[in-house]
Formats: sequence, structure tokens, C-alpha cells
Amino acid sequence: MERDSKIYIAGHTGLVGSAILRCLRSQGYSNFVLRTHKELDLERQADVEAFFEKERPEYVFLAAAKVGGIYANSTYPADFIYNNLIIEANVINAAHKYRVKKLLFLGSSCIYPSLAAQPMKEEHLLSGPLEPTNEPYAISKIAGIKMCQAYNRQYGTNFISVMPTNLYGPNDNYDLMNAHVLPALIRKFHLAKLLSESKYDEILRDFQIHGNMPDSLLGSSYFSTNSNCLLPSAYSLLIDHLSKFGIKISQHPASDLCPPTSNVFVEVWGTGNPRREFMYSDEMADACVFIMNPNKDALTSGLASTSASSVASSLNPQTSIINIGIGEDITIRELTQMVAEIVGYKGEIRWDTTKPDGTPRKLLDVSFLHGIGWKHKTPLQDGLRLTYQDFLKTKQTRETRKTREMRKTRQTRQTKKTLKRIYSPYSTPSLYASPYLTVGVLDTNKLNRV
Ligand code: NDP
Repeated sequence: MERDSKIYIAGHTGLVGSAILRCLRSQGYSNFVLRTHKELDLERQADVEAFFEKERPEYVFLAAAKVGGIYANSTYPADFIYNNLIIEANVINAAHKYRVKKLLFLGSSCIYPSLAAQPMKEEHLLSGPLEPTNEPYAISKIAGIKMCQAYNRQYGTNFISVMPTNLYGPNDNYDLMNAHVLPALIRKFHLAKLLSESKYDEILRDFQIHGNMPDSLLGSSYFSTNSNCLLPSAYSLLIDHLSKFGIKISQHPASDLCPPTSNVFVEVWGTGNPRREFMYSDEMADACVFIMNPNKDALTSGLASTSASSVASSLNPQTSIINIGIGEDITIRELTQMVAEIVGYKGEIRWDTTKPDGTPRKLLDVSFLHGIGWKHKTPLQDGLRLTYQDFLKTKQTRETRKTREMRKTRQTRQTKKTLKRIYSPYSTPSLYASPYLTVGVLDTNKLNRV
């Protein structure tokens, strides 16, 4: 890949795509062809082909996808499999048809079996059953990997797939209805801090920026006319709303709502014992660019320390898949404490041990990536600090749009009342960040039977 090569990043406004764009720019690449979702819907085959025919990109990073946490995956499984299959089919086929020199497809660690041995190696793909909650999404990602391999085999293309671990960083999704666990924790502690400081205006501004504005507070007047105190009715609505996300108070104040709410606590699902791996998105992007355009010296010296069979299988374009991670994990309890400290939340954290923990450990084996000469540099604490700074700077995120989308598909008020009565084992009227579940899940199958 030359500095003036024409590069298309599909999904450049997302967490991964924006990090890849930043990384390429910082390395001196400048010839980008970019389209927002609105400008080019990758689910429309004719539009995708017309775009490739006109623009003729030489290199493609396929980071566009329908992505979400457990709530979204469980609620919209058909969308997750359909949208992702269609995007991959359209882009990968067009990349072949218009002779793209190299394509890098973003997979995900959820493609590995739920009970895969730890750390998970590339060869564990398709060696056992998948995690049921996101199986449709994982299947669509596996289809993308297999498409790349099949095109390489049949047409001699150079399409490679990477499997990043859990990511965090600028441009993440902080919508508490569908965010991943780490951004959800950042936002929850931020909201809890504001609540304990009685900064109600900032809480409401946060809802406007990052989504989840309660319907009940839309259009109401919140404050007393001549003070910054919330009206009691608005205060109750706000407290009820925050409690749905596990941000709670142990006692309602008697009357005056202005003094700091000192009895705030944050509830987190499970015991905190499961171990997970987290990577700063800019580092993942650096690894993607390295894989797209490996530095020959690093590759040569790295390969010397990697077994010949592993190199053969992972660099062979017919079977190429590469894990991207940091090779270290941390308990959810340690992570939670680290996030609280960085955000400056000093209140209590309560572990709801009645909620499931999920898989005890999820860690990628990154020995191949290390072997070819790439290693991460950013410690988790530093990455989290940068991410929180970016969170605070955000004026308006794309997530408010996502919230709007979810609103559009939301059930009627009557249906919501019905939903409240029928909870699955994972569903609860309160929504909590969990080690592997971002929020509680409503069992809509039960609803369909009502
Ligand atoms: P985001 O939701 O942050 O970004 C997805 C991007 O794709 C957005 O720019 C979105 O635009 C765009 N997009 C979605 N649908 C379409 C469409 N039909 N046409 C055009 N553009 C579309 O996701 P991430 O950046 O987090 O994830 C990107 C990839 O990285 C995914 O394949 C995911 O599996 C993978 N990955 C992510 C991890 C993570 O922790 N986030 C971990 C491992 C892998 P818009 O927002 O406007 O809809």
C-alpha cells in the first residue's frame, strides 16, 4: 500500500472505521474515498457496484456492520444476520469484480465457540457451538471470513480477515440500551458522579448527547423558576429512569433536592470475577494497517520466531484469519474499579450476584500477531483515560440517531406494559451493565405468544 494508494474505509464513522482512518492519516496516507451510511447504503447491491465502478479503490477496509450489545442482538437477530450478510456479500463481491488489490474484513472474537479453550486460537474457528445470544451475528461474520477465503481460492484475490477482541475508544456507542460493557460502565459512572453532585442539568444534557432521554421528561419543565433545583416530579422521574440502568439512590431526600445526593450507588451484574480482554481502538487500527501493509523487516524477523505451520496457515490467503488483541485480560471487578477511578466516581459499587456471570474467561491468542512483529503499546489505564476525555468532549454522537431508530421500532405503551410483566431469565425492569451482557433482555418470544 503506497502513501497515495486509493483507500476505501467502509464504516469510517464507527468506532473501528474512524480509528483506521485516524491511523492511516497519521501515517501519511491521504487518498481516501469515504461514504457515510446515508451517502451509500452498503445493503444496496447496485449502489455498491456503481460506487466501486466509479471510484475503483485499490485497498478496502470493511468495517461497516450492524453492531450491538446483547440487547440489540437478542431483540433483532434477523437484522443482525441479514444486514451483515448483505453488506459483506456486496462489498466483497464488488472488491473482486473491480480488482481491489487487498481487502481487510473486520470479524469479531464472537466467531469462536462459546466453550473454546483459552486463549482462543485462530484454528478454533468452527470447532464447536457458538454463544446462542449472538449466534446470528457470529454466523454472518463467519460467512464473511469464508467468503474472503473462497474468493481467494477461486479468484486469487488477497482478502484477509481479522478478529479483534473487545474494543473501546473514541466514537464508541454509549447508548445504554445497546452499548458494550466498557462504554456502558464509563457512562454509568459518569451519570452516577453527576447525580451525586446534584448536577441535574448536566445529566439531562448527557441524555441529549448520548441518548436514552426518558420520554417522561421530554418537554417537561424540570427546574424551579428561580433556582437550579429540580422540581420534585422531575426528580422522581429522573431517579426512576437512572435506576433502570443500575444508577440508584438508597434513600430519596425528604424535601430539598439541591444538596448533593450522597447515597448514590451503581449496581453491576454478577460477581465481577470473569476475565475479559480490552483493546484501545487506535491500537487495533494500527494492527489492521500493519496487517494490510506489513513492514517487511518486522515480518521477516517476526516470522523467524513463529512456527512454520502457523505462518503457513495464517498468511495463506486461502485460510487467512488473524486475531488482534493485547494478549492480557483483567477481571470485570478490576475493570469496573479502574473506570470508576478514571471517571472520578467515589460512591459505592454493588455487585448483583443473583445475575449471571457469563463465560469465565475470553482471551484471544495473539501469538501469531506477535510473531509477525506487531505488539500493542497502550496500557488499559491510558486508553481508558483517553476514551473518557473523548467522551467528555463529545457534543453530539451518532448514538442519538441509534436511539431514535430504536424508538421507531419501540412497542406501543400497552405493549411495554405487557413486556414489564413477562421477564426472561435475563430480563429485569432494571438494566445493568454486566460482564458479558450490557443490559437486561426482554424476552419478546413470550410477548408474541400473548
Ligand atoms: P460501529 O457501529 O461503531 O460502526 C459501524 C459503521 O458501519 C458505522 O460507520 C455505520 O454507519 C456503518 N454502517 C452500518 N450499516 C451500514 C450500511 N448498511 N451501509 C453503510 N454503512 C453502514 O461498529 P464498530 O466500529 O464497533 O464495528 C465495526 C466492525 O468491527 C464490525 O464488523 C465489528 O464486528 C468489528 N468489531 C468490533 C468490536 C467492538 O468492540 N466494537 C470488537 C471486534 C470486532 P452509521 O453509524 O451511520 O449507521
